[in-house]
Amino acid sequence: MDVARLRKNFAQVAEHGDEVPLFFYSDLFIKHPEVRDMFPIAMETQRGHLVDALVKIVSNVDSTADLTVFLQGLGRDHRKFGAVAEHYEAVGASLLATLQYFSGPDWTPDLQSDWAAAYEVIGSVMVAAAREDEAKRPAWWKGTVVSHERRSFDVSVLHIQPEPAMDYLAGQSVAIESSSRPRLWRYYSMASAPRRDAPLEFHVRLIDGGAVSMALTSNTVAGSEVRLGPPIGVLTLPQPVPERDLLLIAGSTGLAPLKAIVDQLTELPQPPSVHLFFGARKAEGLYDLDSLEKMAAEYSWLTVIPAVSADPRFAGETGSLPDVVSRNGDWSRHEAYIAGPTQMVEDTSARLAAAGMAKDQIHIEDFGWSEP
Ligand SMILES: Cc1cc2nc3c(=O)[nH]c(=O)nc-3n(C[C@H](O)[C@H](O)[C@H](O)COP(=O)(O)OP(=O)(O)OC[C@H]3O[C@@H](n4cnc5c(N)ncnc54)[C@H](O)[C@@H]3O)c2cc1C
Repeated sequence: MDVARLRKNFAQVAEHGDEVPLFFYSDLFIKHPEVRDMFPIAMETQRGHLVDALVKIVSNVDSTADLTVFLQGLGRDHRKFGAVAEHYEAVGASLLATLQYFSGPDWTPDLQSDWAAAYEVIGSVMVAAAREDEAKRPAWWKGTVVSHERRSFDVSVLHIQPEPAMDYLAGQSVAIESSSRPRLWRYYSMASAPRRDAPLEFHVRLIDGGAVSMALTSNTVAGSEVRLGPPIGVLTLPQPVPERDLLLIAGSTGLAPLKAIVDQLTELPQPPSVHLFFGARKAEGLYDLDSLEKMAAEYSWLTVIPAVSADPRFAGETGSLPDVVSRNGDWSRHEAYIAGPTQMVEDTSARLAAAGMAKDQIHIEDFGWSEP
């Protein structure tokens, strides 16, 4: 398999932008109408997911270990859509048809056989991981909403009881599908550490025009049912928990996975010292501050520092999170965990790295969007 040739061809095809996933899904649905029901009615976000996954696969194609981990995760994650081995064949055929179409006269028998071989590897890793997963856990969990509390005009705190019980690590996320938006799945992080039989806490911020955040914050009441996908994510503490002190930095609902980590630490006999920065644009965006301050009053190892970026009248720290964090100490010997909007995560990790923190001390969960 000629990796350089595959990359070059993919770059050429990707120049056609949104037309590529549009062609792919049209080809798939025409040849296999039976798979249409596995996808949402509105396909915009889904088309983006396909491109993101392909970019990730092509750019990691020569670092086999990382790619294998990514593909195994993808295979396990696709179980919740009802994907089975036969679907992989159909997807492979449409992928090749799409690449051929956009390559035009540059498509050659060698490219065809290289792509077919690459897809064979991708499909077999995903199918094997899905099969192994089947033996261990369900494809999805039934979730019953136990409570829905609106904390600010755009943030809700939900407690959801999974059935059966779910094993996960503090800091991980699951994809949620609301019954009012079938087949649209979005990731949300658990804000509580795992405890047998306890409901999972989620913090959901309403996005203007956002399909799933709107369904969860507006149409969901106690008793509503949702589906939960398998837990994913690596923003988790290693075991045993390191002795190094922790720096946790949360932008908006990026608080959720970090609160789960704090919750996990409350069960340790001797937790490390923790500084938690919680930032929002306005004071009302600090939707969980009361609960954090109660925890800080109870646990001497926890310090909570709220910060607001767009309200100079705020009595506490004001400014962007990277600025606030930087001026509050030398963190180079801490282990940092950062979660929230893309820009904030990128700027904060760059600032910590510039101030001397090693890259492997910085752990991030990027929610994939940024504040307007
Ligand atoms: C691993 C992970 C964990 C996450 N955890 C959480 C969490 O705990 N709490 C939480 O609230 N969110 C979390 N998110 C974000 C969440 O998955 C959704 O992206 C978000 O709720 C928007 O989904 P939607 O269906 O409402 O909007 P979509 O229908 O997907 O998007 C509608 C439009 O809004 C844009 N958009 C999407 N999100 C935003 C945004 N936040 N700000 C501005 N524009 C946006 C889109 O580009 C699109 O144009 C997480 C994301 C990831 C990847």
